[in-house]
Amino acid sequence: MKFCNQCIVDGELKPIIEGLGQLENSCPICGKRRVFIYDTDIHSELTEYFEQLLEIYTPESMLPSEFPDEEKRLLVNELTDRWHIFSNKLTSTEVYRIIRALCAEKYTSMPSLFDARVGIAELNDKEYLQDHSLLRSNSWDDFVKNVKNHNRFHSNHIELTVLNRYCSFIRKVYKKGTILYRGRISSEDGFPIDQMGAPPSDKVTAGRANSAGIRCLYLANDLDTTVHEIRAGIFDYVSIGKFELMQDIVVVDLKAIDHISPFIEGFDKLEHAINKEHLNRINMEIGRALRRSDSVLDYIPTQYIADFIKSILHEGKPEYAGIEYNSTINLTGQNLAIFYPELFVCTDVEVYHIKELEYKKEII
Ligand SMILES: [Zn+2]
Repeated sequence: MKFCNQCIVDGELKPIIEGLGQLENSCPICGKRRVFIYDTDIHSELTEYFEQLLEIYTPESMLPSEFPDEEKRLLVNELTDRWHIFSNKLTSTEVYRIIRALCAEKYTSMPSLFDARVGIAELNDKEYLQDHSLLRSNSWDDFVKNVKNHNRFHSNHIELTVLNRYCSFIRKVYKKGTILYRGRISSEDGFPIDQMGAPPSDKVTAGRANSAGIRCLYLANDLDTTVHEIRAGIFDYVSIGKFELMQDIVVVDLKAIDHISPFIEGFDKLEHAINKEHLNRINMEIGRALRRSDSVLDYIPTQYIADFIKSILHEGKPEYAGIEYNSTINLTGQNLAIFYPELFVCTDVEVYHIKELEYKKEII
């Protein structure tokens, strides 16, 4: 069975296939040309990685009877949807054939792991969850309730050492000179450069990643996202500032949660399987646009997390300069909340006129 370095998207496994050096004209699975081939008849380098990952799964027949049905899935779907190991161009049959060939021995001893539904037993193990879940009761909603209505500044509903560890896996470096954008709805004349940055402390209102009074510079990676994020209306004028980064910085890239490889050395696969959903929720919550009916209290859970990330130190200095997250208004866009606004300097402002808007709706 042959497949290639393009069939796999996992960042740890790809270089292993490339390192084998077997360059061929085309891949029999994905059809890509001039690729590095992994041939299960002659190579065995990947087997151990998959066997280790498979260890966290238990076949349906061996799971305790109270294990929730909705947490049972086919291994193929786990490998593609939870772990994003294979290219999404591959069909589930192709992924199935690849893992069966890679783990041929395991298949002989335990075919139900591959052919029946499987589950992660610890997902239903209260003791394990207590020690390893990012959220104490394993529920985002409980955490939200706790910080909104019970204990705002010293919540014991979130395991901060676990959050700290994850941040180190999703670090992203931005180099000096990087350009990002911030927009403000303005008049036709636009705002001068010195009014395009984050407002002064006494005028700062609450945002997804900052409490009232704490300055934070919200930037986007392109003009479109900027216009979407400020929710400009039809015929509005929008001043868009171009911001240049003054020094190299490290941010926590929440978007990268889905792409942390389970094969990183020393990485706790089981713990990650349990927390991935919570981490994705944090990314989504920070990027979520508020509706008019929402209250500022709805910002508190993500402010709590942003404040914690801001407090992480490395050798006595702040480790992270901000958080990067997906825009939920412009799905291809990226946003950054920068904790130290002075890291960026506004170098130019242009005024745009919004000529057209597109509304999309669904009946509820
Ligand atoms: Zn391929």
